[in-house]
Amino acid sequence: MASLVKYKTTPIKDEFIIGTQVLGVGINGKVVECERKSTREKYALKVLRDVPKARREVELHFEASRHPHIVRIFEVYENTYNDVNCLFVVMECMAGGELFTRIQDRAHGAFTEREASNIMYSICSAIAYLHHMNIAHRDIKPENLLYTDNTPHGVLKLTDFGFAKSVSESGEKPLETPCYTPYYVAPEVLSSKKYDKSCDVWSAGIIAYILLCGYPPFYSHHGLPISPGMKKRIRAGQYNFSGPEWDRVSEAAKDLIRKCLRTDPAERATIDDVMRHKWITHYNKNPETVLDTTKILLEQRSQWPEVEEEMEKALASMRVDEVHIKSLRDANNALLEKRMQNRQK
Ligand code: ADP
Repeated sequence: MASLVKYKTTPIKDEFIIGTQVLGVGINGKVVECERKSTREKYALKVLRDVPKARREVELHFEASRHPHIVRIFEVYENTYNDVNCLFVVMECMAGGELFTRIQDRAHGAFTEREASNIMYSICSAIAYLHHMNIAHRDIKPENLLYTDNTPHGVLKLTDFGFAKSVSESGEKPLETPCYTPYYVAPEVLSSKKYDKSCDVWSAGIIAYILLCGYPPFYSHHGLPISPGMKKRIRAGQYNFSGPEWDRVSEAAKDLIRKCLRTDPAERATIDDVMRHKWITHYNKNPETVLDTTKILLEQRSQWPEVEEEMEKALASMRVDEVHIKSLRDANNALLEKRMQNRQK
């Protein structure tokens, strides 16, 4: 498909002042503040090395960025920086910070189930929009859900299309490297064109769970640190709704979470199923029960980095093509090690 992005080749500094304030740091580098000279409006600037993967990220993100719950891209420059070809992506500035930081900062007793479902409606409508365009995001996690500003009217939006993938209707080809057969991946995983999209629904289930109680479903019990067996439990879909914080949560909410967290992606709800679920369609009528989320998020904030790490690992294991690349890299490392050992002999 022809790219919709109009890459500007003029120097970005003609139109923007690049600030020094770092808005966030990701795996691909920093996101900094910048200002349009003509309007003095503030934007966020992400700088990527101009490689095919970065172009894919920018093009998929740009294509999707007209949705009200997806961070907008305004301009993309192809400029050199220190003799390196780079893409400078000018996005709307999300000054309101991450989803769960905002909930953690709420007044005690203010966050309700109705609000949680309202947030889920926003997230799921963005996912539905992407899936209808045959884009799987594949990296939906708390750090990629940001608010426009700190006011009560701040809008929640999804960002970071670094792992997004165009999923063709006519049965995608999941692996592009013909020289390597990942025989250990189940055939239904490789043939299912739904698979990439289903990891976004899994993410939605995890986020809904955390919104309702303040901790992720892959804790063995509320409060206990994450153990090495956790990954196994995620795979096995072992989680529960025990603990007093779940007693007052509606059955509809739990039903939706169960459907999103089904371990077999073929059995998992599709995003259309989610959008038709009554907890989502009736988001303005759900109970206004006060949740323990704010309190528990605060109590357990020291464990939040681990929550992020585990979610990242789980998502990586669901991205089949990445598992494949990683195995390849591991295999190379083993080979490298062997060579080193031989050399030492
Ligand atoms: P990466 O792909 O390198 O992980 P991200 O796009 O996730 O980069 O950005 C890294 C961090 O920068 C985010 O976690 C967030 O804190 C911050 N950030 C990203 N985009 C914006 C934005 N539009 N406005 C404000 N901060 C942003």
